[in-house]
Amino acid sequence: MLNKKFYKKLIYINDFSVPMVGSLAFGIVDRGTNIIEVRPTTICGLSCIFCSVNAGPKSKVRWAEFIVSKDLLIDAVNEIVRYKNVNNIEVHIDGMGDPGNYKDLVELVQGIKSIASVKTISMQTRLYMLNEKKIKQLEEAGLDRFNVSIDSLDPILTKRLADNEIYEVSKVLELIDYTLKNTKIDVIISPVLLENINDEEIKKLVIWAYNSGLGKKWPPILIQKFIPHKRGRIPKGIHISNWKEFNEKLHNIEKELGYKLLFDSEVFNITRVRALPIVYDIGEKVDVKIIDRGIFKGEFLGAPINRSYSNIEDRVITVVAPSELEDSLVGSKVKVRIIDNNDNIYIARIQ
Ligand code: SF4
Repeated sequence: MLNKKFYKKLIYINDFSVPMVGSLAFGIVDRGTNIIEVRPTTICGLSCIFCSVNAGPKSKVRWAEFIVSKDLLIDAVNEIVRYKNVNNIEVHIDGMGDPGNYKDLVELVQGIKSIASVKTISMQTRLYMLNEKKIKQLEEAGLDRFNVSIDSLDPILTKRLADNEIYEVSKVLELIDYTLKNTKIDVIISPVLLENINDEEIKKLVIWAYNSGLGKKWPPILIQKFIPHKRGRIPKGIHISNWKEFNEKLHNIEKELGYKLLFDSEVFNITRVRALPIVYDIGEKVDVKIIDRGIFKGEFLGAPINRSYSNIEDRVITVVAPSELEDSLVGSKVKVRIIDNNDNIYIARIQ
């Protein structure tokens, strides 16, 4: 018999049974700006010791991974772009995994780029899983920018941070070099500052980023703050600063090295535009069908019984319930109460 405690389920979302909006794990996230986040997969080959979403093969808190059909994502972007009704949309492909692992990535980029109001497509990735041919295909499909997650240039430290021997930072640097010299795709890097762990490496990355042709149209480096999350990993020995301390730290590095590191959102052409409607209030009761597991153990996906089958109105709801109830819950209809909503990401409990 399968031991469910250690069993991670791979869930393909190929039809309209699961709405595309409402989960952080997959589908579409709208934060009320001209940037639409597209999340095709939760799969990641690394298990970074600071991963805020606890991804990768070593995760002990995830019990499902998701892969979403490209057609569902392209249709959803199309509908949401029409709803937003502006002509400067950026689609950012990211997620609770690495989209570089998504099999239909080229077709996804191609499909999204054919939408007239989408002016820019960017993608967050660690890049190591791609190759020159794939990068060329992504350029031809219309990708404009890689945001490469890279937290050090040191081969030993990067393996330790990734918690996986397969990660070769030298390959990443070669692929960045190839991209800059042979394609129109811009590259910027977005390291996480892990205080007490990669402080000196961050400075080396700043110097390298500003001197290697990165950031043709955008700032070459965007240093991220480490933010501890309930389900995420927290490395031993890290100092966690508040936002004021973090900004001061970047300001000090700016002064020391002479490179700009703090940027306004205008640099990325981010503007506030019509957000998708909030469809449920906190405390509201909703009848849902439990479709399958959610990403973390003890979470399930609920699809509302009353659906419009529109990406503007429909929301998937993450339902928190004891994992032992899986057999009786999946496939059943239950009433849930919304307990949280942030950017149309809904969490509920069974009534
Ligand atoms: S930080 Fe990114 S690359 Fe590392 S485990 Fe998490 S999702 Fe994967």
